[in-house]
Amino acid sequence: MAASGIPSGRILIQGAHLLTQDPDLKTLTGDVLIDDGRILEVGPDLDATGATVIDGTGRAVLPGFVDTHRHTWQGAIRQTGIGWDFAHYRKYIQLTWGPEFTPDDVYIGNLVGALGALDAGITTLRDESHIQNSPDHTDQAVKALQDSGIRGVFAYGWPSVDSNKWMLRGEATHPADIRRVREQLLTDDDALVTLQAMLRGPELSTLEVSSQDLALARDLGIRSSMHVGNGPWGPQFRGIGSLGKAGLLGDDLLFIHCCTSDDDELRMLADSGASASVSAAIEAVLPGLGVPATARLLAHGIRPSLSVDTEATVAGDMFNVMRAAIAAHGIGLSLQPEIYEKLPSFTPADLLAFATIEGARASGLDHITGSITPGKDADLIVLRLDDANLTPANDIAGSIVGAGHPGNIETVMVAGRVVKHQGRLVHVDLNQVREQASASRDRLLATPAAAD
Ligand SMILES: [Zn+2]
Repeated sequence: MAASGIPSGRILIQGAHLLTQDPDLKTLTGDVLIDDGRILEVGPDLDATGATVIDGTGRAVLPGFVDTHRHTWQGAIRQTGIGWDFAHYRKYIQLTWGPEFTPDDVYIGNLVGALGALDAGITTLRDESHIQNSPDHTDQAVKALQDSGIRGVFAYGWPSVDSNKWMLRGEATHPADIRRVREQLLTDDDALVTLQAMLRGPELSTLEVSSQDLALARDLGIRSSMHVGNGPWGPQFRGIGSLGKAGLLGDDLLFIHCCTSDDDELRMLADSGASASVSAAIEAVLPGLGVPATARLLAHGIRPSLSVDTEATVAGDMFNVMRAAIAAHGIGLSLQPEIYEKLPSFTPADLLAFATIEGARASGLDHITGSITPGKDADLIVLRLDDANLTPANDIAGSIVGAGHPGNIETVMVAGRVVKHQGRLVHVDLNQVREQASASRDRLLATPAAAD
């Protein structure tokens, strides 16, 4: 243990309910031994010699959550758009504030977003970063992820200036600066922060552009994501379908939303080995985006990952996303029983798997994180089941999914480094972060709104 009292080095979590997400270990009561950032052993009555013990009595231990899609740069303007529709999102985020972001705004947005994620037990964050207004913006986005202590995937997107050039069928190809980032900034695929590409795909750009962008990402040896099945654009441009027809699908792709992708497209997604990300919370609240595709994906044999999307309009934790998926499915059963009664249902245990191991898989990181498996990095969360809102925890997975919140999370560690201890983030000065985030927010919100 360090002088600060924060466990470090060799750590033993003792006597906890372990929801391992490992198909061999399943769920058990026992210990997790951690050393040198990795999970060494999992089982009952492990030897505590030389280890700092974390008492797991009355606690659940899970792999850290994996958020596979968040526009983290919007962290400091979080919850400014509760109740917005897409027209408002476009007006304020894409046309008013996005172009105003300085590199410093990107830094503090990403930092406060990543810290909020860590506090909520999200240890891996796929940062879908479409704020590449200059190379300095890019560098500050990456630096904030690195400074935050989170396991980050920096998914290099496009600029938030000249929106019409980039969005809504824009014809510009992906920024070539991604090559600099690959060759100079994020060269090590074993580092805590790694590079992927956030591409616009056939619905936000064109098939021609998507084909060139994908060739670039594949040339750089990195995975790519795209937003598809976005409300009316899904049936109109068929993101997955048109890529499939062009022979461009592959298991290096992550498709986000898929709300209005048709059954043929979901079958193509499954056949190609690609992954999916359901952002159930925002899909439930943003009119017209479409219904969360959770059960439709399952019907095609695809176990989705989950994501927050943007904190401008929803909460930044996975509990909210998991509960939104349940709520949306219930509403589907009420409104369209002829469709929903034929679809598979899903349990709290399924949702915890979607939020952990499936997220790791969708991020290409399941060899490192996503389950409590010896040999993997120690990305773990300890959650108090004896808090007033959960006790007596009648069904552990059900309790966590149905009623858990970030305040129940006592300990968070990323690669064995404890960043949340006794319920508080301990590796940052939150007062300083708050000051910088407030200043950034004040400046951005003072920008005159773009014309409708
Ligand atoms: Zn998104």
